[in-house]
Amino acid sequence: MLKANISNSKTCVVLENKGKTDNRETQVEVINSAKSFGIVVLKQLIVPVSLVVNIALLRVSMAWRSHGQTNDELVDNLKAHNIIQHDEVEKAMKLVDRGLYAPHNQYMDAPQSIGYGATISAPHMHAYALELLHEQLKSGGKVLDVGSGSGYLSACFAMMVGEKGKVIGIEHVPNLVTQSIKNIEKHAPELIASGRVKISVGDGRKGYEPEAPYNAIHVGAAAEQGVPDELIKQLAPGGRMVIPVGNKLGMQALEQIDKLLDGQIVRQSLMDVMYVPLTDKDSQYTKW
Ligand code: SAH
Repeated sequence: MLKANISNSKTCVVLENKGKTDNRETQVEVINSAKSFGIVVLKQLIVPVSLVVNIALLRVSMAWRSHGQTNDELVDNLKAHNIIQHDEVEKAMKLVDRGLYAPHNQYMDAPQSIGYGATISAPHMHAYALELLHEQLKSGGKVLDVGSGSGYLSACFAMMVGEKGKVIGIEHVPNLVTQSIKNIEKHAPELIASGRVKISVGDGRKGYEPEAPYNAIHVGAAAEQGVPDELIKQLAPGGRMVIPVGNKLGMQALEQIDKLLDGQIVRQSLMDVMYVPLTDKDSQYTKW
């Protein structure tokens, strides 16, 4: 574990880098298995390395293999593979049928193109995001979904924060904003009509000040220039952001950024990932 303290007068940033390996899928799963069984427990039991590696490899083979024939089957498989761990996440993903958001291969555990250089993320990445933000997605919570794309996660967030909660989606491709609203209206028009979900055209790197602060911020595209300060500012004390950080051609890390109640910022690098870049709309796709 690498720890670096970057202090200024108000904040202390802790960078934690867990279990780096050369194989990005292995790393994802080593971390996932460590999370499932508890890192401390594994250390205390002095489990043979080979067993840990075997568990990790078994999980590697399952992370991308939660495909189903239906949405329920897909969600059941994500749960069987321990990617979904909380009932609330399972319930939200069952209420939001991915078939209404993905134009093809709806129940395949892989990202799918939605046009304009964008993708709907893979179901296992959606599940990881909901699990990581689970504590912040309680009833009445406020959520910012940056790069809301298909609208799928915005709808899941809305299911989890309930009638008293609010979800703001920010997406810089106007056609995707229109399409995502239509997608949500196919099964839950009340979310849009009531204002519980509001999706706007904008540059997500600036967040959305008028509704800040947010208990949870999800960023669905990789920040090449580092984590935008505005997003950290718009996080509520006790809030959590999940954001991929890194170059579009190189390695990206999914980071979890917590703002503690006293304002301290704690950053953890969780796993290597591959997302489309958080960028200017003109450089994302020039033909629209
Ligand atoms: N969670 C979404 C991910 C969509 S892909 C889903 O699963 O459907 C990432 C999205 O980020 C794309 O739709 C892209 O258009 C958008 N994006 C990239 N840079 C952006 C920016 N600066 N501001 C807002 N949206 C951005």
